[in-house]
Amino acid sequence: MTDDQLLRYSRHILLDEVGIEGQQALLDARVLIIGAGGLGSPAALYLAASGVGRIMLVDDDAVDLTNLQRQIMHTSARIGQPKVESGRAALLAINPDIAVEALQERATGARLEQLVREATVVLDCSDNFATRHAVNAACVAAGVPLVAGAVIRFDGQLSVFDPRSAASPCYACLFPPDAGFEDAACSSMGVFAPLVGVIGAMQAAEAMKLIIGIGESLQGRLLMLDGKRMEWTSIGVARDPACPVCGGAKR
Ligand SMILES: [Zn+2]
Repeated sequence: MTDDQLLRYSRHILLDEVGIEGQQALLDARVLIIGAGGLGSPAALYLAASGVGRIMLVDDDAVDLTNLQRQIMHTSARIGQPKVESGRAALLAINPDIAVEALQERATGARLEQLVREATVVLDCSDNFATRHAVNAACVAAGVPLVAGAVIRFDGQLSVFDPRSAASPCYACLFPPDAGFEDAACSSMGVFAPLVGVIGAMQAAEAMKLIIGIGESLQGRLLMLDGKRMEWTSIGVARDPACPVCGGAKR
């Protein structure tokens, strides 16, 4: 680490649980963020500021005026730009020390699997069930931990699915793909802006804990936030042996 890096990351290095080794792990890490919107913005900003060495931002959308109420890495001046380019500019402005890959695409199938395989940890910051299930399946196949977050109206939720652990459920254990959950299209739903900040920042925290290897992750627990009462509920979630995604997977 250079003198500048030692200064930039000194408040991490001062933490016994992080130290030089933990900060180096962050610098060496490669994080894949699916979605550069409400959750992806705070998550990416914290990961960039914290010195995660490579951040892959995936989103096929462009910045729109209606995004700016909550998607805090975008600006009025960047309306019309690809979200991943706008995001890249924001992250590098905070920390030019890192590499940001701006991938303007809707990654699916083999391409998604390839991106997931390259990642130390994956953050699902998308806004629809089809993407969440595709990202989950790719993470299970590649054995890469997934930090999944979601926010709608005044409600948020968050969990970690870690296929490296035999006990860990996957996203599909919790929300079976064939259960027919209504895809509440975020494009037409209200979202209380600070809640995506709360959940997105927590996704960054969980990702960094996994990279450094500290504490206890949210694996096996689903955290739910009722933003109107500002009340958290934690429920235990078990692996489903009959899960169509991870049920037959070797651990
Ligand atoms: Zn499963």
